Amino acid sequence: MRDGDSQMEGLPPKCPNCGSAMEPGSVAAESLVGGAKWHKARSTLALGGEKIGDYTTGGMVWFDGYRCVKCRILLMRY
Ligand SMILES: [Zn+2]
Repeated sequence: MRDGDSQMEGLPPKCPNCGSAMEPGSVAAESLVGGAKWHKARSTLALGGEKIGDYTTGGMVWFDGYRCVKCRILLMRY
């Protein structure tokens, strides 16, 4: 993900739950090995999964998107 690329084009920034305007931003997650993965269900060791984000310098994974502070919902692009 490019630095400073915090906007998602073409997606309406409305909360899918309450319809309020969502706040643009980025989620930063620490990830020293392997990046971020999508799992359809949680498991104890989190083995497998589909890679959805590479770690960058400093061991961080970044996802750009929006959040609804009221509903605590994240809408992110990966
Ligand atoms: Zn909401």
